[in-house]
Amino acid sequence: MNEYDSMKVLDLMREQEKFEVTDNEKEADLLVLNTCSIREKAQEKVFHQVGRWKKMRGENPDVKIAVGGCVASQEGENLRKRAPDVDIVFGPQSLHRLPELYKRELETGQSQMDVSFPKLEKFDLIPKSESTDASAFVSVMEGCNKYCSFCVVPKTRGHEVSRSVQDILDEVKHLVKKGAREIHFLGQNVNNFKGEYQQAKSSLADLIRLTGEIDEVERIRFTTSHPHEFKPNLVEAYSLVPQLVSHVHLPVQSGSDRILKLMRRRYDVERYLSLIDDIRRVRPEMSFSSDFIVGFPGETKDDFQATLDLVEHVKFDESFSFIYSPRPNTTAAEMEDSVPLEEKKERLAILQEKLNMLSFSYSRRMMGSIQRCLVTGPSKKDPGELQGRTINNRIVNFKRGSAREGDLVDLEIVDVFSNSLRGRLRDGDDNLSYKAG
Ligand code: SAH
Repeated sequence: MNEYDSMKVLDLMREQEKFEVTDNEKEADLLVLNTCSIREKAQEKVFHQVGRWKKMRGENPDVKIAVGGCVASQEGENLRKRAPDVDIVFGPQSLHRLPELYKRELETGQSQMDVSFPKLEKFDLIPKSESTDASAFVSVMEGCNKYCSFCVVPKTRGHEVSRSVQDILDEVKHLVKKGAREIHFLGQNVNNFKGEYQQAKSSLADLIRLTGEIDEVERIRFTTSHPHEFKPNLVEAYSLVPQLVSHVHLPVQSGSDRILKLMRRRYDVERYLSLIDDIRRVRPEMSFSSDFIVGFPGETKDDFQATLDLVEHVKFDESFSFIYSPRPNTTAAEMEDSVPLEEKKERLAILQEKLNMLSFSYSRRMMGSIQRCLVTGPSKKDPGELQGRTINNRIVNFKRGSAREGDLVDLEIVDVFSNSLRGRLRDGDDNLSYKAG
């Protein structure tokens, strides 16, 4: 999500101020730090980076420093006090105002701040993406109303707002013209999307169905879903829309009903598992990834064991796990937390080992199979080769043959590594006209 916002900042400054990106900080006119405050560690990094930039000002005194994103939104005036060298502070929902704030700072010499939540204005004012990537992100909603007890998102990004379906479809058509073949819908609570379409409210399932009708769209993904909002019509979309990939990120956070309740997640393990069953009934090959929080206040050994049991049961693919980090103005931050940090670290290591093993065993099982891959560009390891993505989003490097970026090709998996796979183009040119599904 933050990467997407950073790209938008770049688009804006390019279009409105004719800025270009530089690899050399010392020649920059503006240094922009886009921040995340989901965990404390990410937040602390902000102050270190600003400190580093402050030192650099000796060599480049005219450079302006801007801090955007959730730390800016959360800290606001505090950030200006703690880091007075910051010239511009903007929030995730006011990033479209950065060019204006920058100009005003230059004119007045006064630092500028705007961390407000002006609803949909941002989507209307951000220039159209000129991305030519085969896989393109499209933000469809912002914010979250869930108030999970650990989470800072409703405070930093505000309440949910959904874009209109027509605006999204126009953006998809524009991206497709530029070469996109995979559309990845983004939102903090994406499956609670409620955009307007023909004077009525529509759902993510409706949006997916309409996107599937656009000829050149070969794959559709969406992130991040809340299990509570995964309604039957979204499950049904897997049977109606072949371009919807057989992989979904569905954060469960914990396998203990007691902890899920304290987290205020609005589902229990039984409900989560029945959702997984429902989706697998429609798409037996479906794979699931998840997020986990370890060491939530009061998590007992039994609670943690329940999480391990759930992982074993569902057999999650490539997942993320974190030690609980108390966040300001969240209810969990007030809860008594008697689990020592060392114990939390140990639990995290155990969980991560299990998740890594599961993920690697998925990769190993892909060995020798034929995988339909979207060619996303040159290989990072060897730019003479190409890189593709499988349905479950694994990177496959392969010798290019006659394949080009944006093609869907069949690759035979011939080697498996921890972070990528090696493939071989199967039938040369025959591959190039395949559709996903
Ligand atoms: N629905 C959101 C979730 C973002 S946060 C979205 O995708 O934008 C991603 C993950 O960070 C969460 O699923 C959760 O596992 C983790 N997380 C959130 N708050 C946390 C906290 N206070 N401590 C540790 N991990 C946290």
